[in-house]
Amino acid sequence: MSDMKRLVLLGPPGAGKGTQAAMIADHFCVPRISTGDILRNAVREGTALGQQARAHMNRGELLPDSLMMEIVEERLKLPDCKNGFVLDGLPRTVIQAKELEKIVNIDIVVAIDVGEEEVVRRLAGRRLCPICEAGYHVEFKPPRQAEICDRCGTPLKQRDDDQEGVIRNRLKTYREWTAPLLEYYKRKSILRVIDGKGKVEEVFRRIVSLDLQKR
Ligand SMILES: [Zn+2]
Repeated sequence: MSDMKRLVLLGPPGAGKGTQAAMIADHFCVPRISTGDILRNAVREGTALGQQARAHMNRGELLPDSLMMEIVEERLKLPDCKNGFVLDGLPRTVIQAKELEKIVNIDIVVAIDVGEEEVVRRLAGRRLCPICEAGYHVEFKPPRQAEICDRCGTPLKQRDDDQEGVIRNRLKTYREWTAPLLEYYKRKSILRVIDGKGKVEEVFRRIVSLDLQKR
């Protein structure tokens, strides 16, 4: 198989971005570079950058942009990225996008588009058993008895993150930081927006039909 394009995947919370990133990476045999994962790896392996990151985290601070970019750069330089990659979780700002360009050329940016009401429906319906940690969804995977765990009979809970107000806030934040980013990539003619409605496999087919092969 020929190389895959170097791809950035964007999408709001609840768009299934992580799942799609993993599926694309599998399909093309390229690494999925998730900023959360590589940060945890760098910290666990105790690389010089990982140690700096840990110091910030221990103080309860956010990681400076420059440090996160260095950690991404360290990862993108590994040989497995030579034939393409899926980058998930970065850039989040136009400044980061410009920094990223200094490290590597991005060939295509895929934005998964999901409407606000659909995201709320997906996330606000999630339920979790606080005892056995079984997961449910009021609409897509309901328990036999409403709000009760099938396995252990415990009343189900909703994560604080999944409260409707919290979701709407996260979406608002997402729109605020991605709007300029989408505009930036659109002007570079590498932005492709795909419809995130429907099943995971349907969304995946839409992404793969974008012609992600590099020639
Ligand atoms: Zn349970």
